[in-house]
Amino acid sequence: MERKQFKTEVSELLHLIIHSLYSHKEIFLRELVSNASDALDKLKYRTLVDGKTPDGELRIDLSFTEGDKRTLTISDNGIGMSHDELNDNLGTIARSGTKNFLQGLTEDQKKDSNLIGQFGVGFYSAFMVADKVEVTSRAYGSDQAFKWVSDGKDKYTIEEATREGCGTTIVLYLNDEGKEYGNRWQIENLIKQYSDHIAYPIYLAYDQNTYDDKYNVTGTEHKVEKINSAAALWTRSKSSLKEEDYNSFYKDTCHDSENPLFYLHTKAEGATEYTTLFFVPAKAPFDMYHADYKPGVKLYVKRVYITDDDKELLPTYLRFVKGVIDSEDLPLNVSREILQQNRVMNNIRTASVKKLLGEFKKISEQNPELYTKFIEQYNRPLKEGLYQDYANRDELLELVRFKSSSVDGYTSLAAYKERMVADQKSIYYITGSDEAALKSSPLLGTFKEKGIEVLLMTDDIDDLVISSVGKYKDIDLKAVNKSGAMDDFLTDDQKKKAKEEGGAIVEKIKKALGDRVKEVVVSTRLTDVSAVVVTDENDPSVQMQQLLKAMGQSDYQGSAPILEVNAADPFVKRIVDSTDESYVSDACSVLLDQALLSEGVMPKNPAEFARKLHSLLV
Ligand code: ADP
Repeated sequence: MERKQFKTEVSELLHLIIHSLYSHKEIFLRELVSNASDALDKLKYRTLVDGKTPDGELRIDLSFTEGDKRTLTISDNGIGMSHDELNDNLGTIARSGTKNFLQGLTEDQKKDSNLIGQFGVGFYSAFMVADKVEVTSRAYGSDQAFKWVSDGKDKYTIEEATREGCGTTIVLYLNDEGKEYGNRWQIENLIKQYSDHIAYPIYLAYDQNTYDDKYNVTGTEHKVEKINSAAALWTRSKSSLKEEDYNSFYKDTCHDSENPLFYLHTKAEGATEYTTLFFVPAKAPFDMYHADYKPGVKLYVKRVYITDDDKELLPTYLRFVKGVIDSEDLPLNVSREILQQNRVMNNIRTASVKKLLGEFKKISEQNPELYTKFIEQYNRPLKEGLYQDYANRDELLELVRFKSSSVDGYTSLAAYKERMVADQKSIYYITGSDEAALKSSPLLGTFKEKGIEVLLMTDDIDDLVISSVGKYKDIDLKAVNKSGAMDDFLTDDQKKKAKEEGGAIVEKIKKALGDRVKEVVVSTRLTDVSAVVVTDENDPSVQMQQLLKAMGQSDYQGSAPILEVNAADPFVKRIVDSTDESYVSDACSVLLDQALLSEGVMPKNPAEFARKLHSLLV
């Protein structure tokens, strides 16, 4: 028997792991099972290269003993390790940087389950739950097996041993921290949680009591049961899978009782190799608008579950997408920090977004009915994408939908463009909170007369998003409820004339209202109301300002609105003609307040408004 000293860094690492991972000790099983799965992958590959087939089914076997001396055994018939490999692999740290990573963590980070839990610490994690570990291994192609034994302190031994066939058997002598894992249910649960989609079958051996008719124990029966699904559905070829397979996988893994609206299964080969399987739920997840929403996509590396809590896997606006990303190229020990700047992950993410947007587009063209269902749930997050994802803005502009003054249901910008009348310069839209109110807005008068369509936007983020987008295929997007919306319809001469003619009216009303308005302008479009409020092209709309205030930004002052008056209206005429200063003052104030009221903005002082209105009526 050889006695050997661990390299100093291993002793240090062991100490660190045992202390910092203490609260997540159950990850040891994931680590050992994924090592076994790797060993099976390697054997599969080696036999393939050698033109042979492995002896028997490639599998992982788990067993345990209960009672005083609790043990847990993990065995695989994979590639195995030679004497030197046992020495090198289990006596030194395979991965450079591991030690630095663990040492670099602050005390708080060490307690962060996600951070540490996602950081694979490999084989050594076994020492969190065991005070002795025995590894008996026989390398593929060799007749001799070796047994490596250590208590995880500073020494290990290696001696000759026997083992039938190649592979590795690891026996953990469970300590007080680990004794709970010498238990059938615990093992099954952990495997289901972390290793269900390992592509190889995992069997658990256990003894079960047998009973007679009267429920008296008559003996025990030895059972071996497969405890993972061993399916990794996404690794199977698309042609071998039916819609029902996808649907039942979705319902099992995403905990939904309804079938998804649709799914998208992609295998990428080449520079980066990965598989993605995405689902779009029929109903938007309940927490879609919560800041602490749960991401729906799980990350696997070579079928080994890594995390389901990484919001960086897809951009936030696609947070409703559920499913799996399984990469062949990421390291198993990938941490959250590493993921964020990882080139492989970035490639996968960029390609996945493109794929998803492409699929949405395809559905919009080929299955409008399904697309409407999709839009009813996810139009708003897609609009967030217009704001967040500059690189895909053009694609997203084709996907978002709007209500409109001229068609029922939803319309796309492309369809609007088709319907534009001759000489129409811009795409017009109006924002507000209520579709019916928008439809009857006095601002739409001229547009109706000219047969020009106006998009009705009622989502709270429309104003922000659409004004940031600015254009659709070189056509300006113009808000009807902003100043300048009518510029398209007037020649320079007409504008000049309107300004000159309106000069006196503007001056008089502006003087009466002072700071309450940013500007007074004479309208070229109003027919049946006396005045409306609009905002400057660069200011948020009146509703948006209301929203900002409601969102708790109470110190948000907003900018004063622009009052657009109808010079032909009798009330406005009366103001212009009047010489009674107090009348002019009250009338102007009422003129502004009633225009604000039609936008849903309460007068600052309702009693004062009512008094002034009354004085005008009597
Ligand atoms: P990692 O798996 O991240 O490389 P580990 O500390 O878990 O780090 O394992 C170190 C090495 O030991 C592995 O890279 C592998 O070569 C070897 N090894 C571990 N478990 C097994 C096993 N069951 N069969 C064959 N080799 C193994």
